[in-house]
Amino acid sequence: MYKNEVKKIVNEVYPLIKQYYGKSKFNSKAPKINYHHNIYARITGIAEAEGDCSPAAEFEHETNTIWIYYPEMKNEQDIIQTIIHEYVHYLQDKNEMKRLYDEEGYEYNNHPFELEAIKAESDWEIFTPSHRLYPLHKINNKK
Ligand SMILES: [Zn+2]
Repeated sequence: MYKNEVKKIVNEVYPLIKQYYGKSKFNSKAPKINYHHNIYARITGIAEAEGDCSPAAEFEHETNTIWIYYPEMKNEQDIIQTIIHEYVHYLQDKNEMKRLYDEEGYEYNNHPFELEAIKAESDWEIFTPSHRLYPLHKINNKK
């Protein structure tokens, strides 16, 4: 998808996602969302750089940024699921994430924090246009 198309959807759904999942206990404010065409190009600073496994997005703890690699986005569902996934990583404890990788031997495929983020993606439908009012309604009722 084009950057502008992705951005437009992000601007509509991200405020709802933030409100729905709330603030992290481990990080200060909600992450900002930033866009790039490719992770390798971003990291190396070389526009044409490519690599073997190109993720669609990532959460960068150091800068509290969700990076969206917009050419990887296929449709609105994809964008919503991507933001939810990375937002769940923002909610998680970075040190525990690392410990489970380094000391408990978990890998990407079975890491409990990854499984949690993947599971949350199934919430995506409540952030679609026809349901967008619903989470707000639900949140307001909880207070
Ligand atoms: Zn993940």
